[in-house]
Amino acid sequence: MSLLQIEEIGVRSVLTPQEGERALSFYDFSLNPYQGCGMGCSYCYVIRYPFAEAHPAPWGAWVRPKMNAPFLLGKARQKVWGKRIFMSTATDPYQYVERKYRLTRRCLKVLLECNLERLTVHTRSHLILDDLDLLLRFGDRLVVGFSIPTDDDEERKRLEPNAPTIAGRLKTMRRLREAGIEVRAAVAPVLRCCPERFAGLLSEAADRAWVDTVRHEGQTYLRDRQEDVAFFRGRAYREMVEELEARLWMAGLMRRG
Ligand code: SF4
Repeated sequence: MSLLQIEEIGVRSVLTPQEGERALSFYDFSLNPYQGCGMGCSYCYVIRYPFAEAHPAPWGAWVRPKMNAPFLLGKARQKVWGKRIFMSTATDPYQYVERKYRLTRRCLKVLLECNLERLTVHTRSHLILDDLDLLLRFGDRLVVGFSIPTDDDEERKRLEPNAPTIAGRLKTMRRLREAGIEVRAAVAPVLRCCPERFAGLLSEAADRAWVDTVRHEGQTYLRDRQEDVAFFRGRAYREMVEELEARLWMAGLMRRG
């Protein structure tokens, strides 16, 4: 992993309300304990956000721990009482600096006091297991979304070089499930994979799965990878995604509702 630039910051707010109709959304507030992300995935759409565009360093090379995030969340207990929280939409709450700062852990402790209707934790990192003790206390109100866009670790190394290995992710997902936590595989976006093998691996590691395609590639770091852009826009890619979806349906991982 390349050297990560860490800038501790204080913020005015740590919660972002979800706009629009509640029925159309699965969360009321997103919660991002960090700004920036050391994973630096090539397809990450967050590089288009103003705070990322304004940063002089490339996406993936910096992270700003929001040092007052747990404190602000504590002050917002009433606001989130009984609500649905998604952690996180613009960072990975279990990126490696969490071992040093424990902001996600401290936020979880506050959320345990907020009678949440639903907590969705979204990550691709084994560090989530550090907080198993707290996560289990949310019971069936907790869902873990686990990002795993391919079964091919060479593809992972090319497009998510700082992220945990595919084998490591599958292992973490299985451990979470064994602990009784609902795990939803986020195959989003689908990268090059072997649909048959991938669906088989996911059926052992996840309760459900959802799939999305590579999008906005011209506005992510994929724009510098012409060969990849051509592939993701091509017919072979569409057919691969369709086959993966079909196999996930057959495996019972994709359900309506
Ligand atoms: S882990 Fe998520 S937020 Fe971080 S770079 Fe990858 S896609 Fe973006």
